[in-house]
Amino acid sequence: MAHSNISIFVPHVGCPHTCSFCNQRTITGVEQIPNADDVRETCTRALSEVADYKSTEIAFFGGSFTAIPRDYMLELLNAAFEFVGNDKFGGIRISTRPDCIDEDILALLKAHGVTAIELGAQSMSDKVLKANERGHTSDDVIRASELIKQNGFELGLQMMTGLFQSSSADDIYTMQEIIKLKPKTVRIYPVAVLKGTKLASLYQSGEYKLVSFDEMVKLCVEMLKAFHNAEIDVIRCGLHSSETVEQDIVAGFYHPAFREICISQLFRYAIEKYADKSIKTEVYVSGSSISTAVGHKKANKQYFEENGYIIDFKVDNTLEKDEIRINKDVYNVFEIT
Ligand code: SF4
Repeated sequence: MAHSNISIFVPHVGCPHTCSFCNQRTITGVEQIPNADDVRETCTRALSEVADYKSTEIAFFGGSFTAIPRDYMLELLNAAFEFVGNDKFGGIRISTRPDCIDEDILALLKAHGVTAIELGAQSMSDKVLKANERGHTSDDVIRASELIKQNGFELGLQMMTGLFQSSSADDIYTMQEIIKLKPKTVRIYPVAVLKGTKLASLYQSGEYKLVSFDEMVKLCVEMLKAFHNAEIDVIRCGLHSSETVEQDIVAGFYHPAFREICISQLFRYAIEKYADKSIKTEVYVSGSSISTAVGHKKANKQYFEENGYIIDFKVDNTLEKDEIRINKDVYNVFEIT
């Protein structure tokens, strides 16, 4: 059964920083901070809607959870903890900054039912962290990641691509360093330049230049493959779609179907590698992947037509969602070199 979250957003409250890209109100789409009653209400409603409680976590996202005032953090955790355990949800998930993790806070989190901790690493280059005013170093990410794992929590790491002063090589370096830390999950956020942020000013002054959308897709495709091959789940690639992000976006790589566009590219590469241009090729994929294989707005279908291929997309539900079959040969699109 797939894992899912009951998401509760705790915006910028308590955060001592203003990172170059951050406008938490826009990213989370909420201005009001939740209280214990809001948490109980959300969890009660979710209990009546979610079929598989055990695979579901209550997730506090959006800010730096362990940096918010301690009383407030405990108020939220205590309310959530009432909904964890037998016949209830599987645990609590939080996201925070790498420099807001120590043994004491981990003991507190464990005592209140937290099972997974995601760190906003963003980059493993100290030059990039400094240029984007993160206020922590790559060593903080390493230290916090080790502590989290040693204390028995599931580790998640979040990274951004295309930040100010981060080249594609810097982004690949970050990916490699993250793989070394062996997190269970990763989120990849191609940068979205939002109104009112330092990145927006740098972009408008011409000091901050971005690669093209297609180049960013290509980079993220490489990352999806590398994480897959390292057996690390990429649980998000691209900001989740939200009206407020759409209203406040100035530049960058926000697209509501960003991940699907990347996976479609993997299908394209695989088909191109194994299809024979001189004859019609029947390409089989699972029913759940047919639209991804055909491409966002049929981009792959069009690409093959324009490049002289005759591809007939067909469904074979014995295939896994990441597989294609051409004749009798089955390929995993993440494993094509
Ligand atoms: S630490 Fe997180 S919440 Fe604080 S400014 Fe940076 S991104 Fe925003």
